[in-house]
Amino acid sequence: MSAKLIDGKAFAATVREKVAAHVARLKEVHGVTPGLAVVLVGDDPASEVYVRSKGKLTVDVGMNSYEHKLPVDTPEADLLALIDRLNEDRDVHGILVQLPLPDHLDESLVINAIDPAKDVDGFHISNVGLLATGQESMVPCTPLGCLMMLRDHHGSLSGLDAVVIGRSNIVGKPMAQLLLGDSCTVTIAHSRTKNLPDVVRRADIVVAAVGRANFVPGDWIKPGATVIDVGINRIAAPEKGEGKSRLVGDVDFGSASLVAGAITPVPGGVGPMTIACLLANTVTACCRAHGLAEPK
Ligand code: NDP
Repeated sequence: MSAKLIDGKAFAATVREKVAAHVARLKEVHGVTPGLAVVLVGDDPASEVYVRSKGKLTVDVGMNSYEHKLPVDTPEADLLALIDRLNEDRDVHGILVQLPLPDHLDESLVINAIDPAKDVDGFHISNVGLLATGQESMVPCTPLGCLMMLRDHHGSLSGLDAVVIGRSNIVGKPMAQLLLGDSCTVTIAHSRTKNLPDVVRRADIVVAAVGRANFVPGDWIKPGATVIDVGINRIAAPEKGEGKSRLVGDVDFGSASLVAGAITPVPGGVGPMTIACLLANTVTACCRAHGLAEPK
């Protein structure tokens, strides 16, 4: 491997330390404790793991965590009523509805019911519009974490060619907006993109958010490029024993790490930064709600 490893796990730990220090000051000086409410509908095992880990890390940095677990057949009106109560609750500064929701629930209706000021996932239509127009908003956690790692590695991103593979509302599109905001020349690639390998080969920065295991091979990567692998894919790992599995990204780490200048691993790259940014967004929401200085 010749690429520098971008250690998202270690970076996320420093972000959480800063969040914890800010939370401690908010409590001591202003008597305010930031609170994050997480709503989980149904019993999807992966979502349950995420929610548990978010709750634990929220408490670890000194914030209040409010978990709301609702049955899989919860009527939409009940979920909207809970969101209304959380919107009104002055102890709750951030609200996160764990996605995906069961099929009978209208995801955009639910997300847009959240008070935009408490929308720490940054998915509310108002926050999407604010981000697109370069105004103060809540920024989606996964792309924000990617941007922080890129800024940390490069310093300025100005003028760099960036290719984002994936155009989802939660990763690809906001990632492209953020890179544009940092003056990259941005290409968004997707399943209809022609000559994808050649498009990717132009990039100084590659952000892969495709959802396909090891999709981007090393020979698509320009030598020295920075590769941010958002993908989380579980694949069979017979080498670990029968029925075992392991997590891999959307980038073929083995071949890409021989060519790239820097690369994030999976696990231990984007994932931990996503949760750290969620905590940071909750502190930001709390500071804005109380008219206090936001963390830098
Ligand atoms: P989506 O399925 O919503 O989007 C995937 C995107 O990849 C789509 O835009 C799709 O294009 C594009 N795509 C699919 N196949 C191809 C192809 N053959 N060539 C080019 N583009 C293709 O996924 P998400 O954005 O929600 O997530 C992407 C990955 O990131 C997943 O692995 C997910 O688990 C992971 N993830 C990780 C997070 C973290 O914290 N680390 C957080 C969120 C997601 P089209 O639009 O044309 O269909």
